[in-house]
Amino acid sequence: MIDFLSEELRLMKEHNLYRSLYLIDGPSEPKTIINGREMLLFSSNNYLGLATHPRVKAAAIAAVKRWGTGSGGSRLTTGNFTLHRLLEKRIARFKGTEDAIVFNTGYMANLGVISALVGRGDLVISDQLNHASIVDGCRISRATVRIYRHGDMEDLRHILSESTSFRRRLIVTDGVFSMDGDIAPLPQLFELAEEFQALLMVDDAHATGILGDKGAGTVEYFGLEKRGIIQMGTLSKALGSEGGYVAGSTSLIDFLRNRARSFIYSTALSPPVIAAAMAALDVLGEEPQLRRQLHANVQFLYQGLKDMGFEVLPTRSAIIPLIVGDAHKALALSAILAEMGVFVPAIRPPSVPEGTSRLRITLMATHTEDNIQFALNAFQKAGKKLGLI
Ligand code: PMP
Repeated sequence: MIDFLSEELRLMKEHNLYRSLYLIDGPSEPKTIINGREMLLFSSNNYLGLATHPRVKAAAIAAVKRWGTGSGGSRLTTGNFTLHRLLEKRIARFKGTEDAIVFNTGYMANLGVISALVGRGDLVISDQLNHASIVDGCRISRATVRIYRHGDMEDLRHILSESTSFRRRLIVTDGVFSMDGDIAPLPQLFELAEEFQALLMVDDAHATGILGDKGAGTVEYFGLEKRGIIQMGTLSKALGSEGGYVAGSTSLIDFLRNRARSFIYSTALSPPVIAAAMAALDVLGEEPQLRRQLHANVQFLYQGLKDMGFEVLPTRSAIIPLIVGDAHKALALSAILAEMGVFVPAIRPPSVPEGTSRLRITLMATHTEDNIQFALNAFQKAGKKLGLI
């Protein structure tokens, strides 16, 4: 009856698409234990090191002591603690919006907001390289979906100009693209949204804490505050906690509280997670040197890899994509690096398009110069061994 499972698994293995889990036995820090070995971690989204920042940890511990470990209900029933509202107001202040709503994950935020805003008879227009959670949000919304070529404003204009019969139109984009590290052309997207009377939503999962003077993300980076752009993001990357959010106008947030199913039908986030996110936002404001250090680390590693002859994509985020092409070769590069104590998993289809398998390297503010130099030496040896450089 379920023979297809072993056959599917066999095929995944045959095509180098099978995924096994790594066991991490320690925090998400530059030096950690992976599959029983001490390794240097170059693939965490804990970009600023806040998941282990003493103030953030202390806030989580204090919250457990005062509020307990679980919220005991969904937000609309018995799980709406004052902590949740405090965090939402804190996020709104950070983002420069009237209000914000917190979901249990970024994934759930995307499902919730997209399916609440558009449905049958509407159109959602999505960048080709948007994150899977946006793709899934589009699918469950039952709206018509059109994809524009990555960052291609002419293609988007064309779709907008020939789709005027839809009730509502929503343009949705990653702020920083998760596998390429590049930044969406938000000013042009905003102009097109204005011209064609469409809603515009940006997923700032990888921009929050990273881009803009305050680290508030792509909207701040481009100076587009107060323009009605729907700002979605996650608390799970640079902010070192867990949960997703949407920031926007009072009416948008009120509407989402009433219509976003992934918000309504799930138990509210636990108190330590909320408290950690709040403390992380405080640290972000008070320790801007963390962001500066992160960007310096990115430049150091990027330049080193480029000088060696690797194909690395330019970046202003914390993500350096090192393009290998073939999935098998990407796996081999990752395996050789792991043998040398550097952990960077390979990213293969379907996470990235066919023929663009890569190592998605990420930096943390907490990497030292020695850590990065060690990684560069390992990349050089591995790259030569595989004939990549
Ligand atoms: N959007 C993007 C662009 C992401 O990279 C991710 C996480 N991989 C998410 C949304 C989902 O966020 P979370 O991990 O909080 O569910």
